[in-house]
Amino acid sequence: MNDKRIELVDGDITAINVDAIVNAANNLLLGGGGVDGAIHRAAGPGLLAECRTLGGCVTGDAKITKGYRLPARYVIHTVGPVWKGGGRGESELLASCYRKCFALAAAHKINSIAFPAISTGVYGFPKQTAAAIAIRETRAALRDDDGPARVIMLCFNRESREAYEAALRQDSRPAGPVL
Ligand code: ADP
Repeated sequence: MNDKRIELVDGDITAINVDAIVNAANNLLLGGGGVDGAIHRAAGPGLLAECRTLGGCVTGDAKITKGYRLPARYVIHTVGPVWKGGGRGESELLASCYRKCFALAAAHKINSIAFPAISTGVYGFPKQTAAAIAIRETRAALRDDDGPARVIMLCFNRESREAYEAALRQDSRPAGPVL
């Protein structure tokens, strides 16, 4: 298992010194509330100017920009699903966000990446289910020697931290024989 490469960090994602931070953006990619607003405020107007050239982003996909005034060199903007009760493919779409982010990280040789709890704010995705998806997809991306050396899960509040801790306690290995 590569869980040693997954860290839970409390605080504000805009202050983290990593190669890339992930933004929980919306389809327009033109800024918004929550973590999106915080990232745009910290990065400065260059980020919005570059985002305007991207033509938006569909739910479940991700696009990369530079980090401008952020400590991070890149911002990966991904659009999580709005929670509508769980029957509208929300879990698959959230998993897709993490996969697309890891694919962009690989393409840009990103060695350290920090994620917010995508979709769990205004978009209403249950924190525990979202954390389980985040950890499952991260473990898949870190299989063997693949993936970034460090993956940080930003815990903006206590519920997020507890959700990640619970998800990490769930062993990803298939059950072995009962001895
Ligand atoms: P979404 O619309 O995808 O739900 P939000 O920004 O509303 O996005 O919330 C996503 C998560 O980011 C929530 O857990 C929220 O508490 C957290 N969050 C908000 N601001 C920050 C920040 N500055 N740094 C890290 N996480 C943040």
